[in-house]
Amino acid sequence: MEVVSFSSSRSAELFQRASAVIPGGVNSPVRAFSAVGGTPRFIASASGATLTDVDGNSYVDLVCSWGPMILGHAHPAVVEAVREAATGGLSFGAPTAGEIELAEEIIGRVEPVQRVRLVNSGTEATMSAIRLARGFTGKTKIIKFAGCYHGHVDALLADAGSGVATLGLPTSPGVTGAQAGDTIVVPYNDLDAVAEAFAANQGQIAAVITEAAAGNMGAVAPEPGFNAGLRRLANAHDALLIVDEVMTGFRVSAAGWYGIDGVAGDLYTFGKVMSGGLPAAAFGGRADIMDHLAPAGPVYQAGTLSGNPVAVAAGLATLRAADAAVYAKLDANAKRLGDLLGSALDTAGVAHQVQFAGNMVSVFFSAKPVTDYASAKAAETWRFAPFFHALLERGVYAPPSAFEAWFVSAALDDASFEKIAAALPAAAQAAAAATEGTSS
Ligand code: PLP
Repeated sequence: MEVVSFSSSRSAELFQRASAVIPGGVNSPVRAFSAVGGTPRFIASASGATLTDVDGNSYVDLVCSWGPMILGHAHPAVVEAVREAATGGLSFGAPTAGEIELAEEIIGRVEPVQRVRLVNSGTEATMSAIRLARGFTGKTKIIKFAGCYHGHVDALLADAGSGVATLGLPTSPGVTGAQAGDTIVVPYNDLDAVAEAFAANQGQIAAVITEAAAGNMGAVAPEPGFNAGLRRLANAHDALLIVDEVMTGFRVSAAGWYGIDGVAGDLYTFGKVMSGGLPAAAFGGRADIMDHLAPAGPVYQAGTLSGNPVAVAAGLATLRAADAAVYAKLDANAKRLGDLLGSALDTAGVAHQVQFAGNMVSVFFSAKPVTDYASAKAAETWRFAPFFHALLERGVYAPPSAFEAWFVSAALDDASFEKIAAALPAAAQAAAAATEGTSS
C-alpha cells in the first residue's frame, strides 16, 4: 500500500500555537507523541471508527479516546441523549433521577457493587477509594503494582504505567516523601511479593489496589489465580481489595473484568466507558464501606459537577446500547486485530508478542511473554516508533506509546480491517528494520 498523500501542516501549526499556551501543547501527556516523535494530530471530528484530523486525513481509530468509545464515535443514541439532556440544563448542583439510573445500571452489572458515588475522573475515583479505605480500616499503607496506573493520585504515581511509563519517570516531583512512603510497590503477577509486603507491614495495610487486568504497561492479563490470591491475602490481613476497572469496566464484558474472573473486590473504580466520552467516573462497592462516605458517614468526598446530567445521559445511553451483540463484536474485533498484527509481524520476522487482556490488545517487541512491568520495559520498545508512524501515515491511529493498550470499538467494519491489513506489512517491516538508538 502506498502512503497516501499526507500533510500534517495544520496539525503542526496548531501544535506550535498550543505549545505557547498549554504545557507541552497538550492537556494529557501521552497525546504529545513524546515517545514516538513527530507531530500529534489535532482532531477535527470523529464518526464511527474514523477520526479525521484538521488536515483532512482520516484514520481507523484504535485508541477510542483511550477506551471509552466502545460504540464508536458520535453514536446516534448517545448524541441524542446528550442533546436532550443539554437542552434541559447543563448542571443543577442538586440531585437528578439520572444519577440513580446510572448507579442502578452499574450495580445491576457488577454484583459486588452495592453503592456507587459518581465523580468526574478516574483519578478522582481512585483517590477517593483510597481515602475511604483508609478511613474505613483506620490503617494508612497501600500496596500497588509496578506498571499499574490509577490516575495521577500523589500516592499512586510510584512506578506507574501509562504516561509515567511512556516518559520513563520513576515518580513525579511534587509528590512528598510522606505520600510516597505510604505506598508499597510490588511486581505485578507476584503473589509472593504481596505476601511479603503484608508480612513486613503487619496491621498497617489499608488496601491493595490493582488494575482488574493491567492495561497501562500494555495489555498484561493477571495470571490465573492472581486476583483470587489478592482477595485471599487481603482477607487474611483485614485489608480491602480495591479493583480498578476504570479501563476494563464495561469494556471487556458487560460486567467488566469481574464478568471474566468473578473475583469480588471490596471497592471498585470505574470511568471511561461508563460516561460514554464525557467527563464522569465512579467508585463503588460494599454498602458497609461506602456508607462511611459523607453525608452518610465521616469520610469526606464531594464534587460541584459530580453526577453532571449531560455526562450521566451519555453514560446511560452508552451502557444501554452496549448489549451482548456489542460485546461479541468487541471481542471478535480484538481477535481480528490481533491476528492481523501477529501475521504481519511474523512475516517481517521480528520477535513480538500480541497480548490480550480481554478485548484490549498490545504489541510487545519481545521474544518472551510480558507478565509484569520489568518484562514490559525489557521489550525492544525502540521498534515501536517506526511501527507506529508507518501505521499513522497509512491511516491507522494506534496509541502513540509502547506502554499502552490498543482499544477496538464495535464500529470497526470490513473496510476498517482492510485499511489496517494494507498498512501493516510496511509497519512490520519498519519495526523489523529499526535499530536501537534510532528514533522516528
Ligand atoms: N485507573 C486506570 C486503570 C486508568 O487506566 C486510568 C486512566 O487511564 C485512570 C485510573 C485515571 O483515569 P482518568 O484519566 O479519568 O483520571
